[in-house]
Amino acid sequence: MIQARMHGVTVYESTLMKTTSTLIETPDCLIVVDPSWLPEEIAVIRRDVEIVRRDRPLYVVYTHAHFDHIIGAYAFRDAITIASKSFVESDQEHALREVRSFCESYYLDMPAVFPVVDHVISESDTTLKIGKTRLTFFLTPGHEASHLSFVVMPLHLLICGDYASDVEVPLIEHDSGEYLTTLELLESFIYEYEIQLMIPGHGHICDVRTEMIERLHAGYNYILALRANKEPEWDASWPRTNFMNRLHEKNKRQIAKEEEARLSRRQFD
Ligand SMILES: [Zn+2]
Repeated sequence: MIQARMHGVTVYESTLMKTTSTLIETPDCLIVVDPSWLPEEIAVIRRDVEIVRRDRPLYVVYTHAHFDHIIGAYAFRDAITIASKSFVESDQEHALREVRSFCESYYLDMPAVFPVVDHVISESDTTLKIGKTRLTFFLTPGHEASHLSFVVMPLHLLICGDYASDVEVPLIEHDSGEYLTTLELLESFIYEYEIQLMIPGHGHICDVRTEMIERLHAGYNYILALRANKEPEWDASWPRTNFMNRLHEKNKRQIAKEEEARLSRRQFD
C-alpha cells in the first residue's frame, strides 16, 4: 500500500514489517530504493515506474544487503544500480539463501537475484549528479556492515535505511559503536541539508525536524544504556511486543559479544 505520496516521492509500505520502498521522481531521473517484499507489491512499484517514466533513466539504490532489502532485485535488472563497496563484497550467497528460504516458506515463485551494482560507493560524501538532481551517499554501518544512507537534493530528502524507525528498536547486527557514529552523522544531515522528509526502512516517514531528531536520540540513548549494561527505557519509543522483546534480547547478546571481544583484545595487548 502507499504510505505517502508528496512532491515527487512515493513511499510504499509492505504488508510485512512495515518495510518501505521509495520511488523518487525528478525531472532528470527516477530512483527506486529497496523494492520489497511480496511479488504483487514489487509488481506495483515496477508498474508505477513505467507509468511515470517517459524517457528518464531508472536508478535503484540498495541501502544494505539484508535480504528483505534486495528481494525485489529480480524486477529491476535493467536499472542502473547503486550500493556500497561492502555491499558488493558481502556474503551474497547468504542473502540469496535467505530469499530462497523465505520464498519456500510461503510458496512464493520469485527468482532469487543479488543485484549487480553499477555505481559502487566506496567512500562517504560521494555525490552523483544526474542533471539537477544530486544524490549524496554516506556509508552508515552499525545496523549492518554494508549500509549506506543518502540525501536527495534539491528535494531535501533523507533516505536513512534501517535507522530512525518508529516501529522497531535499533537492530545492532554489526557494531554498536559504529551505530552510534551513524546516528550522529544522520543528525548532522538533518541540519546541514535542511531535511524536510526522512524515510526509514521500516515504519513511518517523518516530516517534522524535531521528531526526526527525537527518533535518532531515542536510538542513541537506547544503545548507550545497553553499552553501560543498563536496562534502557524504550516503552515510549517502540511497541513492546514479544517479538520486539526478542530483538531487544538479541541486541543485549550483541553488546555482550562486543564487550567480550574488547576484553580479549585488551588481554592480548
Ligand atoms: Zn536491515
